[in-house]
Amino acid sequence: MQSLDDFAKDRLDSLERRQLRRQLVETERGDGAQATRDGRAMISFSCNDYLNLSHDPRVLQAAQDAAARYGTGSGASRLVTGNHPLFSDLESRLAKLKGTEDACVFGSGYLATLGIIPSLVGPQDLILADEFSHACIMAGSKLSGARFEIFRHNDIAHAEEILAAHRASHGHAMILTDGVFSMDGDLAPVAALSSLAEQYDAWFMTDDAHGVGVVGGGRGSGFVGGNKIDVPLQMGTLSKAIGGYGGYLCASADVINLIRTRARTFIYTTGLPPAVIASAIAALDIIAAEPELVARPLENARLFTNLLGLPEAESCIVPVVLGNPEKALSASAMLDSEGYIVTAIRPPTVPEGTARLRFAFAAPHLPQDIHRLAGLVRTHLLGD
Ligand SMILES: *Cc1c(COP(=O)(O)O)cnc(C)c1O
Repeated sequence: MQSLDDFAKDRLDSLERRQLRRQLVETERGDGAQATRDGRAMISFSCNDYLNLSHDPRVLQAAQDAAARYGTGSGASRLVTGNHPLFSDLESRLAKLKGTEDACVFGSGYLATLGIIPSLVGPQDLILADEFSHACIMAGSKLSGARFEIFRHNDIAHAEEILAAHRASHGHAMILTDGVFSMDGDLAPVAALSSLAEQYDAWFMTDDAHGVGVVGGGRGSGFVGGNKIDVPLQMGTLSKAIGGYGGYLCASADVINLIRTRARTFIYTTGLPPAVIASAIAALDIIAAEPELVARPLENARLFTNLLGLPEAESCIVPVVLGNPEKALSASAMLDSEGYIVTAIRPPTVPEGTARLRFAFAAPHLPQDIHRLAGLVRTHLLGD
């Protein structure tokens, strides 16, 4: 089809001119933060495997045993024959970690959110979301057909203004936010949003993809400061600190039963492979048993922010905002030539004018690499 190929070429050319075209780069990940690109040994500061659990021998062994016993695929949707016995084990561990009655595992975090939101709210209802929420929150909200309102980043007063104006004229309401913001690394005001939700009878959900295994003693953004904050819907992923793949929701038994019966991204998709579930179980056991390991990514991020005089890191993600996409790409290329992978993040992932480097600190990073990296950033990017 000539018109189809022309369309694709024109779109690509236009993105290329604005430095917004994205490219896949082959990367072979190794143990620790090591990675190989084009035959060059690199250290990655762009990986979400914060605890290196994807390479932990205990996790690998669990995956191998499960594959040998149950096969490589689950063979069907969980509601048909794909619900092998490992799922209930994983779900009860997730519920325990998050302090909820039950949990439901999905194919990925993105799929979880896309299934959860439309199962709970529809066209008569209201959704409020933080402006920097992950793309899956935006997509799930649109899919629900509910009225969708954005509040300014971490701005409780703005969220309250929207509720005061619109809550009464809608049936149900949800408040949605990332617990740890994926491109900014800051924490949501989870306790304040929880109270606000309570006050307006809105259902509060956090996307804790970057919280679990890292903040709140590994239990996530609802546990920062040592207390359990009331978050009735805690969604997350198994693909970051847990080191594997998959998504989940932790909630009350009634809510989880409803989700298992109604969420289309749960019903109409194949269950995760047994090895993936077994590895997540092994990873959660390590997270529960090794608080020193869990503390390390945040310690490493704080070493970096302290060295540079940046605001102290609240999570293991640290952004260095540079402005236009060109600057972010050339900064990333400079660090690449020094042996460090730090991916440039550009619009539409982040707002126009805030292209950046996003540093993700992990347990295996060595102090000497963090010192050297901070030196490069100070000399070449922060201009002093
Ligand atoms: C990565 C991420 C997701 C998606 O999770 P996947 O399991 O990778 O689909 C959702 N929300 C946030 C905030 C994320 O960073």
